[in-house]
Amino acid sequence: LITTDRFLYGRFDILKNNSFNFIFVDDVDSFLKSPRNIDKVVMLMGYEPEIIDKVMRIIELRRKRRPTEGELDELDMLEESMLDYKEPAERVLVVSGATLRGTRTKRLQLFRYLFGFQPGYSFEFVRNITNFVIKPSRRIEEEVYSLLKKYGAGCLIFVPQTEGTDYALKLSEYLNEKEIPVHAYSRMNPKMLGKFIGGEYLALVGVASNRSPLARGIDLPENIRYVIFAGVPRREIRISRDEYNPAKLLTLLRNISPLIEDQYSAELQRVMAMLSKTVPTHAEIIEKVREAITNGTELSGFEAFVLQAVKEARRLVTEILTEDRIKMLSERADVYIKVLESEYRLIVPDVDGFIQASGRSSRLFAGGISRGVSFIIVDDEKALHGLLKRLKLLYEDESIIEYSEEAARREFEWVDEDRRKIISIRKGEFRAEEVDVIRSALVIVESPTKARTIATFFGRPVRRRVGSLTVYESLSGEMVLTVAACQGHLFDLTTIHGFHGVDVRDKVFVPKYTWVKRCTSCGEQFTDYDRCPECGSGDIFSKEEIMDALKQLALEANRILIATDPDAEGEKIGYDIYCNLYPYNRNIDRLVFHEVTRKALRKSLSLPEKMRISLVESQTVRRIEDRWLGFELSRKLWERFGRKTLSAGRVQTPVLGWIIERMEEAKKKQTVATFWLENELRIELVEPKDLENLRERADSNELSAEVEELSLRKDTVHPPPPYTTDSLLRDAATILRMGTADTMRIAQTLFESGLITYHRTDATTVSSTGLSIAQQYIEENYPGMFKPRQYKSEGAHECIRPTRPISRRQLEFYLRSGVMRLPAKLGDRELRLYDLIFNRFIASQMAEALVTVQELKVKLNSNTTSLERVVGIEAPGFLKILPIVKAQEKVSPGRYRVVRIEVRRVPSKWLFSEGELVSTMKQKGIGRPSTYSRIIELLYQRGYIFQNNGRILSTRLGRAVYEYLSSRYGDLVSEELTKKLEETMDKIENNEINYQDVLRQLYNDLSKLMSEKH
Ligand SMILES: [Zn+2]
Repeated sequence: LITTDRFLYGRFDILKNNSFNFIFVDDVDSFLKSPRNIDKVVMLMGYEPEIIDKVMRIIELRRKRRPTEGELDELDMLEESMLDYKEPAERVLVVSGATLRGTRTKRLQLFRYLFGFQPGYSFEFVRNITNFVIKPSRRIEEEVYSLLKKYGAGCLIFVPQTEGTDYALKLSEYLNEKEIPVHAYSRMNPKMLGKFIGGEYLALVGVASNRSPLARGIDLPENIRYVIFAGVPRREIRISRDEYNPAKLLTLLRNISPLIEDQYSAELQRVMAMLSKTVPTHAEIIEKVREAITNGTELSGFEAFVLQAVKEARRLVTEILTEDRIKMLSERADVYIKVLESEYRLIVPDVDGFIQASGRSSRLFAGGISRGVSFIIVDDEKALHGLLKRLKLLYEDESIIEYSEEAARREFEWVDEDRRKIISIRKGEFRAEEVDVIRSALVIVESPTKARTIATFFGRPVRRRVGSLTVYESLSGEMVLTVAACQGHLFDLTTIHGFHGVDVRDKVFVPKYTWVKRCTSCGEQFTDYDRCPECGSGDIFSKEEIMDALKQLALEANRILIATDPDAEGEKIGYDIYCNLYPYNRNIDRLVFHEVTRKALRKSLSLPEKMRISLVESQTVRRIEDRWLGFELSRKLWERFGRKTLSAGRVQTPVLGWIIERMEEAKKKQTVATFWLENELRIELVEPKDLENLRERADSNELSAEVEELSLRKDTVHPPPPYTTDSLLRDAATILRMGTADTMRIAQTLFESGLITYHRTDATTVSSTGLSIAQQYIEENYPGMFKPRQYKSEGAHECIRPTRPISRRQLEFYLRSGVMRLPAKLGDRELRLYDLIFNRFIASQMAEALVTVQELKVKLNSNTTSLERVVGIEAPGFLKILPIVKAQEKVSPGRYRVVRIEVRRVPSKWLFSEGELVSTMKQKGIGRPSTYSRIIELLYQRGYIFQNNGRILSTRLGRAVYEYLSSRYGDLVSEELTKKLEETMDKIENNEINYQDVLRQLYNDLSKLMSEKH
């Protein structure tokens, strides 16, 4: 059955007694709004009306937050009765529509429940267009005329929204006068369209806007060859200089907030929050507010709040939009403001309109995506700059080049080749092998957030339920992508076979894996058992269900792309999937990318790799080593302490040792005396000589210090390199007070949302993509300060850096205004961590700072100390974005009276913070970017350490366990050996050593030590 919404509505009586195996519904936009039509289709698919009622009731019951006992019973019963119906019938329903943007009825969930899919759309993002930028040397109209003369029929011409329909009409008149037949298009008119298709009109002229009928309604892949933008697409928001409407004031503030200095940031946030509480505002209230402000009267209740918000917003606007600042903004901002006598005009580049309009020249057809061309004639440099900036933000891989006749001719050869293909396909003349038919690929990642990020690169994905997996489908242009998240490791070593999960056969070690299971009641992860070992629940989710769904998907797809995270752990997860899917589909590749962006995905798609076995082996050894040593040592601990909850691991033990040692050191106290001089200089003396005398003389106002200047010199301060995992963890702990586990989790979210590069890395290397991001941001915000540095370090990884040239504030603005959409919601902590990463990276690519340093020698009786102070910043360089050095007053040499003295007993060394602990691990070569945080977390979980005021202490249990382990098994858990083992893992990764040999060595060492009597 091929039908439309209207037909279902008017003529259902003809259809109703039939049932169909294949139904195609066109014009789905209106179809999806109508619950009755959805019911009709479901009936035509062979379901009785009672079933629909049942399913709707199930959906309702499932949504209840706190269902009653009775409702739960009812749900069980209904779901039971549905089992027969949910068997996949061999029937197909296809729905098709233009935008899928209309309102949707709740009844759509019927589709999800019965057929396992939810309608989505994607074509707007799928494009294959070369955009030529033309900076005109003559009038725009003449430029348009010359392009039409050169490239001929099949053109759409768009004028900016700011110029409007009038200009479209004027332009078409001008062209017609010059005997180029064109038509200004404002409403659908079949006759006129016919003339365009027939070639009678060379071009149609309209307004560039995503609401314009010319930009959305037309789909003529064989006719439309190119698009001309007669001016940069942009919108204009007009706001009276005497504005009282909270919504308009909010728009104005939102748009200027990312463009101005930090000093207004807090104020802007506060006022915008106030305004947004008053929006939408009743016209009556706005009028009252206007009166109150004009007459200086007061209001009460909610009206008083609105009045307050409007007053503050108006004050802020006047304060911020000074002449100087407007001038500065208009020089560099991507949104800019014109100030006229009576109003502000906010000029906003229109990316949506541009994408919609140019997209007419590149359409999906049976052979792929047809090639198209767009010309942008620049009438406003700033608008172009803004447009390109936003384009790069959303479509990093969009091709934009300066116009040259030669390049354009080449493009048009492709364009016309595709048009010939489309026409021959339409006529039914083509043979399948002549056309690159779109193929399907299954992309597998770890997390649902990453899956959604990838799927949304190409539009709003279609959600589909396969077994216990939710997958996302979208169209990349070359492929239909199905993106699935495997949710971490699927397998782990068994606990019931071999030597702790490893079979030892003829000196070959064969690990035995089994499904990872999770208790639905308490969240415990385990293997082997059928009931939860923690709480005894029988409600168990096995990862086997995920693999079952992946197998089903593997059978549907032409190829499989494993895109798990780019390190050893990701490789192992990917390899397990590879082995399990291989019997179902042998066309499997590995995609490696260090940032989740369209560009990185496209690049890896063009260079697919094979599984990197050495990484898998390294991860395998890491896991086995951990298991063997952990089990053996834990057993000893149980015997010794009689508690079955105790356990130990190799890497954790030396770290526990450092914490205990540091506690001992912290018990030793030292005396620190601080002196304040009359010139406000502060001097600290550790273990000062003659303290009593100093104190007495200070108390009687007789103590003075002699200050001598040793040198005054210029010094260069270099920016620190961009973050690696350890330095990020350290700074997040000290600056943001975030624990290492939190930092890693938040960084994971930022990575999976496509905002930063992979956060598990020990490389400082900056790629060329990274350099160009820094360049773009710095040239715009700190002109002349860009100084590229690559910080090359070993390995394939990159530093942790942002993936786009946008600061935290710009990011917030783009998210709030809907320009950017992310699959995960970013909270304050995510934004703060992003800010930290962004500033550090940008600073690393900026000029050095030049400072003046004063070196002083201070004498206090028999004590002498020297100090260095920065007393002037000659050239701030990177300090502008990363103020790690601040200038202090210069001190003149001389004798100064001591005005205050303070003497304290302080620990000679402070207890570890999490940040310092990570730095120490990095420095001593224990732990890796993937394990730093996990090591610390394990020590907490086992109750060996705890935290007090951000400092880490060991528990009595921790000390007892450490004492026992280091005295009996010191050889196994020593720092030296642990460090060596980490290096061995690296060697396995680099193929420098055979992993079986490493296992053999470990096995022998362990058996020897364990069999010895202790
Ligand atoms: Zn449990």
